[in-house]
Amino acid sequence: MHKDLLAHDPGRWIPKLEAMLPRGQVVTTASEVERLSKDFYWYSPVLERQLRDKRGDAAVRARNVGDVREVLSFASREGVPVTVRGAGTGNYGQCIPLRGGILLDLGELDRVLAITGDGCAVCEPGARLGVVESTARKAGWELRCYPSTYQKASVGGFLAGGSGGIGSITHGVLRDNGTVRRIRLMTVEEEPREVVLEGGDVLRALHAWGTTGVMVEVTVALAPRVDWAQLAASFPTFDGCLGFAEAVANGDGWRKRLVSAFEWPIPAWFTPLVKWVPKGEALAFFEVAQDQLGALEREVAEAGGVVAFVSPYHEPRRGAQLSDYTWNHTTLWAKKADPTLTYLQAGFDPVRVREQIASLKERFGDELLMHMEYLKSGGVVVPGALPVVRFTSEARLQDMIDHCGRIGVGIANPHINHLEGSGRWRPDDAKLVAKGEYDPRGLLNPGKMAGYTPGRVAA
Ligand SMILES: Cc1cc2nc3c(=O)[nH]c(=O)nc-3n(C[C@H](O)[C@H](O)[C@H](O)COP(=O)(O)OP(=O)(O)OC[C@H]3O[C@@H](n4cnc5c(N)ncnc54)[C@H](O)[C@@H]3O)c2cc1C
Repeated sequence: MHKDLLAHDPGRWIPKLEAMLPRGQVVTTASEVERLSKDFYWYSPVLERQLRDKRGDAAVRARNVGDVREVLSFASREGVPVTVRGAGTGNYGQCIPLRGGILLDLGELDRVLAITGDGCAVCEPGARLGVVESTARKAGWELRCYPSTYQKASVGGFLAGGSGGIGSITHGVLRDNGTVRRIRLMTVEEEPREVVLEGGDVLRALHAWGTTGVMVEVTVALAPRVDWAQLAASFPTFDGCLGFAEAVANGDGWRKRLVSAFEWPIPAWFTPLVKWVPKGEALAFFEVAQDQLGALEREVAEAGGVVAFVSPYHEPRRGAQLSDYTWNHTTLWAKKADPTLTYLQAGFDPVRVREQIASLKERFGDELLMHMEYLKSGGVVVPGALPVVRFTSEARLQDMIDHCGRIGVGIANPHINHLEGSGRWRPDDAKLVAKGEYDPRGLLNPGKMAGYTPGRVAA
């Protein structure tokens, strides 16, 4: 990144921006710019220290695609950095501007434009995933996968910053199975272009943290709607809990959306639920098809577990769901109980998972508590995990990460604030090439694609 290409004199360009856009669309109030500059980066004590003083200089509330075009053209002419914001629920500082500039808030571009007859949702980027889910369900469909933040998170933010979640145990993560059908992406040039990405090309923008273009419309494939039931079961040991969760996750007969398992004392931190969990026991959560609930209850009992809680799946916005305790919400409950806790994002080996957990426990004991989220990735059922970690020092955290590497546990490091280091960089460099084509001056979310130097790729 050539720092000298970027404008650091907001006093020069903010008046021009205000003159260009209707009154009220440019936000310069310090507290509001600060709020819009931040996400859940404080999940990581490392990023909390690195990013707490980072913010944009002004925010623009885009009301339509025309506004996005104007802002991107302005940024290109003036050399001003632009960082896109969906709902700001990212958990590793993805939408925190490192070099100031404009925060482009897409929260008002929030319409679900169509649910097509062949089962796709066509959305503006700021559409809330909860709204997409309810709209799809009314038409007989549902999201294939969504994050536990779905009530608030935007579909554009999910594609650019997330990976998978509830539903991934059946339908895989966002990059699998053609789930992301089409992305209309706007480039950052004096005359911004609209590029349509389809097929494998969607990887140019998926999980690119808004560094390769601004998504102005997305089309995601849906699944036929299922009436779901939610079940929580406690087990005397984590090993028993894991074995049962693993059997459901791998059992092709189960129609399922969620399989999670938690080591004690994590269940103790789910304050509204803890009354149903015997002290010291492990907990598993499932979402299965309503007509399979009876069978699941029987199998829990046969496996030595006790059904702690059963509830129908509620339509979004009609009450709490078990998923509000899963994926990275688990970390949130843990941090509410003890702010010194943090987490890792890990992929265990389906065959060696027990041996790997034993090795981590032997070395780190209760400094690392197991929280598993089963998912399918590339067609394989994987014991994914977001272990809750007691933070003492960066060196100790690195020791855990290094040990994971040595025993074959993959880590997508949520304590690093650039794409390459966070563990999902692809060897084909598709995003690096896309950056050179769609944001040649390196103005989008500068610093997050650490390896990009303007001019080098294009050359
Ligand atoms: C409690 C909690 C639980 C979570 N659970 C999950 C989970 O289950 N699964 C999961 O994958 N993630 C999870 N996350 C992370 C995050 O909530 C999701 O990825 C979410 O979908 C992000 O959406 P957002 O609208 O908040 O994006 P933001 O945080 O606003 O943005 C995320 C990134 O996308 C970029 N971006 C946003 N919109 C666009 C656009 N239109 N074009 C280009 N770039 C854009 C931003 O610049 C930023 O880099 C969790 C986070 C928290 C705090």
